[in-house]
Amino acid sequence: MPKSPKILLIGQGLAGSILGFELLNANCELTIYNSPTIFFTSSIAAGGLFNPVTGRKLEKTWLADELFELIFSFYPSLEKVLGKNVFHPMPLFRPFANDEMKDWLLERKSQIDHPYLDWTEEGVWIKKTGWVEVDKLIEALAVYFYQQAKVFEKPFVYENLIEFDANQFEYESEFYDYVIFSEGFHAQQNNPYFKHLCFLPAKGELMKIKSNEASEDYIVNKNGFLLPIGDKMFKLGATYSWKDFSQVPSETALEDLQKKAELFGLKEYQIVELLVGVRPATQDRRPFVGFIPGKNIGIFNGFGSKGVSLAPYFAKELVENILHQKEINPEVSIHRFSHLFSV
Ligand SMILES: Cc1cc2nc3c(=O)[nH]c(=O)nc-3n(C[C@H](O)[C@H](O)[C@H](O)COP(=O)(O)OP(=O)(O)OC[C@H]3O[C@@H](n4cnc5c(N)ncnc54)[C@H](O)[C@@H]3O)c2cc1C
Repeated sequence: MPKSPKILLIGQGLAGSILGFELLNANCELTIYNSPTIFFTSSIAAGGLFNPVTGRKLEKTWLADELFELIFSFYPSLEKVLGKNVFHPMPLFRPFANDEMKDWLLERKSQIDHPYLDWTEEGVWIKKTGWVEVDKLIEALAVYFYQQAKVFEKPFVYENLIEFDANQFEYESEFYDYVIFSEGFHAQQNNPYFKHLCFLPAKGELMKIKSNEASEDYIVNKNGFLLPIGDKMFKLGATYSWKDFSQVPSETALEDLQKKAELFGLKEYQIVELLVGVRPATQDRRPFVGFIPGKNIGIFNGFGSKGVSLAPYFAKELVENILHQKEINPEVSIHRFSHLFSV
């Protein structure tokens, strides 16, 4: 029987967590380095929303059919293993922004329509939507990894990785067949192997609020989202900024969020918490998945604002690539940048 691959994974945000889970399912030997106290974790700030529809024209998101079929089996199976409820399918309503927009959309209804849409007089209900409690999921997976893998809660020091050849590595006196980096936007700043990839990090802020005014039965999506999380609490978000990548909340984002609250018709609400993260987005809006040509050093990153729906699908692809050399979707494979990897 071939021996199980020994894998060193750096980062346990949402992406690293889901990949780690899939690697263990595939009987790989896993070691994780993660350092949330030194490098903050974008996933903790995430709304956790999944939604197969995007944009003004209510288009299906990229690979919607494949991704959304999978997440409705993936997260429930993860819940069973972890014994935690983190997956919350919930209807999502997109009200027409105004009469002009309503007329514009209704005139084009026959061209726009697809099975995820349910049209009404006031707006459109979207099917296969909901949210994942990302912070709870990561916490539960951290406990699982402590039982099933080797975990080091400390920063990975890139200079200390020793490469013997293309598929033999040593780090802190342990030997590995593969090294996979999943450090979120921090990769762009620190990772000598991948920082030259075309990242486009986007800082995001959202607020947790308490309100008696909004419905707790469904998510509203109107130039932002209002997401009920129970006990009259809601996540309201999110902002985008491409300038400052600190974890400090900004005055402008707060103003932006308060305007969004107004747009959702909220007059009285209590701000419970402000959450800040930096999305590991990419210039071509596709993730970064795969290995440096000819070398077992890889990346699982670039999930932008859609980690919840993208990560399960591409974790499975990466594991298939490791175990059976199955080709990675060329749109996400880092081989699309092969000119950047001099061999
Ligand atoms: C405000 C906001 C709202 C969002 N809403 C949604 C949403 O509704 N739906 C959705 O799908 N996505 C959403 N996202 C995006 C989502 O957060 C990301 O797609 C996803 O969480 C990225 O996960 P990641 O694991 O790649 O990165 P991260 O979560 O940043 O995790 C990286 C991990 O690597 C660790 N690390 C980094 N460098 C090192 C090192 N050298 N050594 C050791 N450890 C290291 C960090 O400590 C961290 O734990 C949102 C993001 C923000 C900011």
